[in-house]
Amino acid sequence: VNEILSGYGTTIFEVTSALALKHNSINLGQGFPDVDGPEEIRQIAADALMTGPNQYPPLMGLPELRQAVARHNKRFYDLDVDWQTEVMVTAGATEALCDCFMGLLNPGDEVVLIEPLYDSYLPIIRHIGAIPKLVRVEPPHWELPREELEKAFSDKTKLLVLNSPMNPSGKVFTKDELSFLAALVEKHDAYVVCDEVYEHLVFDDHQHHPLMTLPGMRDRCARIGSAGKTFSLTGWKIGYITASPHLMKAIAKAHQFVTFTVVPNLQKAIAAGLDFPDDYYRDFTAGMQAQRDLLATGLRDVGFNVLDSQGTYFLTVDFSPFGFDGDDAEFCRYITLKAGVTAVPTGAFYQEGGPRNFVRFCFCKQPSLLNEAIDRLRKFF
Ligand code: PMP
Ligand code: GLN
Repeated sequence: VNEILSGYGTTIFEVTSALALKHNSINLGQGFPDVDGPEEIRQIAADALMTGPNQYPPLMGLPELRQAVARHNKRFYDLDVDWQTEVMVTAGATEALCDCFMGLLNPGDEVVLIEPLYDSYLPIIRHIGAIPKLVRVEPPHWELPREELEKAFSDKTKLLVLNSPMNPSGKVFTKDELSFLAALVEKHDAYVVCDEVYEHLVFDDHQHHPLMTLPGMRDRCARIGSAGKTFSLTGWKIGYITASPHLMKAIAKAHQFVTFTVVPNLQKAIAAGLDFPDDYYRDFTAGMQAQRDLLATGLRDVGFNVLDSQGTYFLTVDFSPFGFDGDDAEFCRYITLKAGVTAVPTGAFYQEGGPRNFVRFCFCKQPSLLNEAIDRLRKFF
């Protein structure tokens, strides 16, 4: 067995979902919507399953999906992208991340990452023999530690990994924060893997700016999107990368040996989805924001200290008002067993010594289910 990977347990998402199932608990842990995305997209996929294509699509992805990704980049971010050399389709953002790390890193390269972290980053980076340099943002304000970031970069830095909107914090990096990061990246001649799977889940007056749109960043960034998130079809595992040709060439080398290509009928359907009118995207964000507000109000009412969520599927809450004697993982187990509602411990997104009294609730659920979860918690606390 590989000594790096065997050091990791089962992911927290799988563990919490299994626990919720076992105890018949409302699962506000793992992030997935309880209503499938647009019927029109699913119908196109179903039709294409019968009529084809059903054989290997091209390595880079179906042309119609790559063209749609390029148009999406132009429509939302005014990025001019060549679909032939700068777009690639992957098996979800998870494969995209793996391809970027495998394609761009050598053993000994340093990678700057900002905790809290999505759990697939570090195992792959370590497996390659690259060296993670972690800095952290912390609740309640998730402020960027600028001095520590300056120290984390060195002449060995090859990559920065940036997740904005950020899971689980709900932080959407501001233009000023992005400019600060861009300056460091340029100064150290590094590249950036931009995990932007929540690009269309940004609330209130916040705005998502891909780092790629900042001066000097166009050719240094690999920007990753996920149809699972944008169209509420998380099980489909369709992701896409946008990157300049010299980066893409290296990243595609990894993809050709990892999966080579991705399910064609689903690609065809997502191509149609990306071209949906602005109304789709507006309604999607507005609906999710309303669910965020419903859950935030309810949890506040129950007695949690609810933090601001600027984007993503997630709300972070502080459970210290309850005087609970234990850490975040224990609290998650406790409310699953006692109240029948499941959350994810925020500390699981940190390597060690992370915050102990915060948990993450997922709000991409129907209002009736969110209300039921709030009722259960209210009865218990
Ligand atoms: N990055 C982040 C920050 C995520 O939250 C997720 C969601 N699971 C992923 C990547 C993976 O996305 P996908 O399901 O498209 O592989
Ligand atoms: N991204 C989702 C979350 O953070 C779940 C991903 C997964 O289950 N691997 O909950």
